[in-house]
Amino acid sequence: MVELKTDTSIEAMRVTGQVVGRALTAVREAADVGVSLLELDEVARGVLREAGATSPFLGYRPSFAPVPFPAVICASVNDAIVHGIPNGYRLRDGDLVSIDCGAQLGGWAGDSAISFIVGTPRPADVRLIETVERALAAGIEAAVVGNRIGDIAHAIGSVCRSAGYGVPDGFGGHGIGRRMHEDPGVPNEGRPGRGMRLRHGLVLAIEPMVTASGHDGYHAAPDGWTLRTNDGSRAAHAEHTVAITDDGPRILTAR
Ligand code: MG
Ligand code: MG
Repeated sequence: MVELKTDTSIEAMRVTGQVVGRALTAVREAADVGVSLLELDEVARGVLREAGATSPFLGYRPSFAPVPFPAVICASVNDAIVHGIPNGYRLRDGDLVSIDCGAQLGGWAGDSAISFIVGTPRPADVRLIETVERALAAGIEAAVVGNRIGDIAHAIGSVCRSAGYGVPDGFGGHGIGRRMHEDPGVPNEGRPGRGMRLRHGLVLAIEPMVTASGHDGYHAAPDGWTLRTNDGSRAAHAEHTVAITDDGPRILTAR
């Protein structure tokens, strides 16, 4: 079921989204060569705690997961696409890190992700991250009243594919509101003019992910959560929670 949010609810979701934005900014600032993924999770926990927010990630267990998610961020390094479990791994020079974070506050959820490089950037990784950000921007630009879900999907997929990157299917964006994952699904590829029509008050988490080799294949790591590219190529992910309004798309997780 799709719930359209009132303007008051959208404003409340923006408050939650700001907490997510702050957590991601803090994690990015803390991320450095030698810092562990568990330490980054602690940074995000601190921001949520200070805001009085809880984590929709912590303890989350969708049908595919063998264990509840044990952290408040997903930390996906290099060939990990999404859903990486923070562990004792210490970041190395040149690592490409994707951090996904959620918050639950005042009854509303927020969800956002960033990708960045630790230490010395490789040009190929810079381009990969720039592209996933461009795909997110294109998806948000298409998130206007009167368009359809397929227009968002098409906008995202076109940017990723025309750059020569792979687009893992089966994972993508989603409605968001009282819960982190609501209807409708927002695929990262699709046909324009198809799917649900976008209306004022629909709130979506839009989240492109790309793989550098152009191959789409992925598999779950032994932890049952982390999704890795089959060919070991690097991946990047970006996400914002976005309200569709009569005044245009509004990013609720701005940093
Ligand atoms: Mg997310
Ligand atoms: Mg999401």
